[in-house]
Amino acid sequence: PMLYILLTKMRQLNLAQRRLAVLAATDSLTGLLNRHGFTSAVEDALRNAAGEPLHRGALLIADADHFKHINDRFGHASGDSALRLLAETMLRILRPEDRIGRIGGEEFAVYLPGLSGLAAEMVAERIRHAVAAAEFIPDDSRETVTVSIGGAAFEHPIGFAELFRLADKQLYRAKADGRNRVAF
Ligand code: GH3
Ligand code: MG
Ligand code: MG
Repeated sequence: PMLYILLTKMRQLNLAQRRLAVLAATDSLTGLLNRHGFTSAVEDALRNAAGEPLHRGALLIADADHFKHINDRFGHASGDSALRLLAETMLRILRPEDRIGRIGGEEFAVYLPGLSGLAAEMVAERIRHAVAAAEFIPDDSRETVTVSIGGAAFEHPIGFAELFRLADKQLYRAKADGRNRVAF
């Protein structure tokens, strides 16, 4: 009976640890992966895929435009709703094998395994259109939120940090070129 109790306790501990790990990787506002969860998931995916014959894919970074104004005009709680709407809208477009995370306040990242640069750019445009078309209703008015998206595609093994740097540079360009656009 002592051994039985010990094994049961060990199983319970193991389960609790796994639940904690999931919680630590999750963004509580949107239910998406948080920065830590997204980074480790994509680092793993990039490592595992590096041996495959067709190693390609892309990373997108989507940042809400002028989000400070949304908060200033409608309040922080409505801003939170807008962030949840953004998350749902992006999720609807993605495939099960894609990964999405909320990596900063109003910043999201998407990993698209297996896609060419051209295909990934089309996904980015679909996200941008879907977000701009989604209605966000903070009080009685209908409002829209837009995102700027920077993307980078790879066809050879690449590390997460380098891929992120390239996509982030494009995001900066999309912002500088006027926002509500995709730069690749
Ligand atoms: P830009 O188009 O250049 O990205 O402008 P921006 O206003 O979106 O960018 P900035 O970085 O100046 O401001 C980000 C804003 O996002 C400010 C901050 O209050 C808001 N924000 C960040 N995290 C959250 C959050 O969890 N909830 C809400 N409601 N707002 C958030
Ligand atoms: Mg922003
Ligand atoms: Mg930002």
